[in-house]
Amino acid sequence: MPTPITVCPKCGNTVFPTDEFCSHCGFRLSFQQEQFSIGKIIWIIFVSIVLPPFGLVWTFKYFKSKNTFQKKIAIMSLVLTVVSIILNIWIGVGIFSAVNQQVNQVNTQLKGLGY
Ligand SMILES: [Zn+2]
Repeated sequence: MPTPITVCPKCGNTVFPTDEFCSHCGFRLSFQQEQFSIGKIIWIIFVSIVLPPFGLVWTFKYFKSKNTFQKKIAIMSLVLTVVSIILNIWIGVGIFSAVNQQVNQVNTQLKGLGY
């Protein structure tokens, strides 16, 4: 399958649609560029951390993207999701063992009282 060729809007040099910059004039090629506002990036970070599995939506959406920025977003949401899941398990286990310890203490105290 031949790679479709596109033309740089600034200098007319032929470029690949996957190129981020024109190899001739360095113009930033926008046809591959999905715009990420700061708000969207913050939203992706927020969802990845607070609602762990949903951050993976962007991982799947952008992971195969040839656009390096989208790929970075995909990797970032993946890393944040994994970190968030680990933290959740860690906190969950911590609470569980703390409760367990309390129950054990109460049990030993009850045994000590002859129950
Ligand atoms: Zn150009």
